[in-house]
Amino acid sequence: MKTNRTFTMIKPDAVANGHIGAILDHITKAGFKIVALKYTALSAQKAGEFYAVHSERGFYADLVSFMSSGPIVAAILEKDNAIADFRTLIGATDPSKADKGTIRNLFAKSIEANAVHGSDSDENAEIEGSFFFSAFEKF
Ligand code: ATP
Ligand code: MG
Repeated sequence: MKTNRTFTMIKPDAVANGHIGAILDHITKAGFKIVALKYTALSAQKAGEFYAVHSERGFYADLVSFMSSGPIVAAILEKDNAIADFRTLIGATDPSKADKGTIRNLFAKSIEANAVHGSDSDENAEIEGSFFFSAFEKF
């Protein structure tokens, strides 16, 4: 398993607000190589599967509804120390607590509509990347 990869989504809020280009620019300028990229959408069922780990949380139904509310951009990214470096680049889950200059500080509006997803481990990066991409779509 590659350990220098992470998986990200540009979430429906950031897509709807026209931030795809600016966010991809931040990502590539921070040294991440794009391994796979897709403009797509999650059905409620697929969003529920993706965030199944949160199914017992009070915000789960709202999260599933939000994540299936419009198109998203999915991507696999490569860089040394990808998981930790990407989470530093995006900032805290709650954008009001995200460091200045982070993607969530710049582009997110709320703890739910927080502009981007970032994998939390090598294992989940592999699972989440394979959720969206076949081997033929990774370069
Ligand atoms: P992500 O997994 O999307 O990168 P994260 O790892 O920073 O985010 P998690 O704890 O995994 O945060 O939560 C997953 C997502 O669920 C968050 O990004 C956010 O969209 C939503 N979420 C988390 N906590 C809350 C909350 N208290 N209220 C509403 N939505 C929440
Ligand atoms: Mg998470």
